[in-house]
Amino acid sequence: MPKTASELTDLGVAAIREGVAKGEFTAVEVAGAFNAAVAAAQPALNAFITLTPEKALEAAAAVDADRAAGKPLGKMAGVPIGMKDLFATTGTKTTAASNILGNFVPPYESTVSQKLWDAGAGMLGKLNLDQFAMGSSNETSAFGNVISPWRREGSEAQLAPGGSSGGSSAAVSARIAPAATGTDTGGSIRQPAAFTGISGIKPTYGRCSRWGIVAFASSLDQAGPMARDVRDCAIMLEAMAGFDPKDSTSLDKPVPDWEANLNADLRGKKVGIPREYRMDGMDADVARVWDEGIAWLKDAGAEIVDINLAHTKYALPAYYIIAPAEASSNLARYDGVRYGLRDLPQGAGLQDMYAATRAAGFGPEVKRRIMIGTYVLSAGFYDAYYTQAQKVRTLISRDFMDAFQTVDVILAPTAPTAAFGLGEMVSDPLAMYLNDVFAVPASLAGLPAMSVPAGLDRQGLPLGLQLIGRPFDEQGVLDAGLAIEARAGFTARPAKWW
Ligand code: GLN
Repeated sequence: MPKTASELTDLGVAAIREGVAKGEFTAVEVAGAFNAAVAAAQPALNAFITLTPEKALEAAAAVDADRAAGKPLGKMAGVPIGMKDLFATTGTKTTAASNILGNFVPPYESTVSQKLWDAGAGMLGKLNLDQFAMGSSNETSAFGNVISPWRREGSEAQLAPGGSSGGSSAAVSARIAPAATGTDTGGSIRQPAAFTGISGIKPTYGRCSRWGIVAFASSLDQAGPMARDVRDCAIMLEAMAGFDPKDSTSLDKPVPDWEANLNADLRGKKVGIPREYRMDGMDADVARVWDEGIAWLKDAGAEIVDINLAHTKYALPAYYIIAPAEASSNLARYDGVRYGLRDLPQGAGLQDMYAATRAAGFGPEVKRRIMIGTYVLSAGFYDAYYTQAQKVRTLISRDFMDAFQTVDVILAPTAPTAAFGLGEMVSDPLAMYLNDVFAVPASLAGLPAMSVPAGLDRQGLPLGLQLIGRPFDEQGVLDAGLAIEARAGFTARPAKWW
């Protein structure tokens, strides 16, 4: 039966793939419906930096032709997606939401995006983000902030979609993309997913190739999917993951059949509840949803075990030393010589050119991180900060490994609050950093971690629950996520005001 455009944009990854495969609708019809939805929402939400409707249609036409010719279809066949503008895309501007890469058109494709195209996905456009993925609200983008499709009950105040993958979270929750890529260095998939009522998983460090992703903090950066539900995340992660000889930290392990093996029956599993995450003055709604999550996992058959992650309180300071340190080194390549912006004042020498280029090319948050990073790496302070932070990182990993002797998966809130208002946090960088408190420990330990929507707060805004698993155990994380999804009955979606 033919479907209307809004019926098509209501479908997620699995449903689109199935409908296209069965011939219920064509991939071109799906791409057309999402292209129109993107164009209509763009002025209000600013979720994209670059629109590529022709790419979505081109990929869709290829899928329709393959189907007509009886060729096998890929895992993402006929699914148009949004691509975070941190993934290099051949011939399409890749800005990292910065001025310094404002007109950068890569001559190469990132491994992850290539895998998605090979699996039959198409590109709706390049999604907005915090500049160089540094931020938790999308307000550091040089292309203007994303506006969340969500609003508090009875209020028209503009809210943050989370960050740094805020274009991704806004687009998926507004149903202008069935799914999107994200990257997570210290929570940038999980926190925006939680803020907008969608699902997102950061896999084990090394699962997805970092090749062709603009680097922020290389020992932490991981790509992952953001989608409407757990199954869609599993499908898309299978398409994104896999060994890549071009990334020296890539995991040389086969990609499991996460989707086929999804199983929400948790009998025989143990779920850890970390005492240290129950912080003084914790938001009452966040605490309530966490308690509900515990009850849901019990209902799914799991045994609940209290655990200690003793060094949790040091995770945030350690992260905000290690991530800027690596960023300061990674961002040294933007010098105006090789590519990107060049600001060459009249009569200027080389040093002046570097200074002028970097002054004009980086926003305030990126400059702050470069300064913190070079400071903690400087000869006089290296041991006091950087070495110390690395030791703390080891202790945090050990806490998790000890806990995983007893439990199979850990349940915690994704973020300490629901979405905050635009402008509410930017003036105080430390307050903004605190929003990452529950997300950074799993990043420092390189563990798979997922956020699933679990409920609404008293203002009608989504809250997420986080599942953290053993290294390589994305399956355990997805399964526990599915158990929560099945019981939370989360069907809320933003009212369409754009
Ligand atoms: N909000 C964190 C930061 O600003 C995490 C960002 C990310 O994961 N890319 O560093």
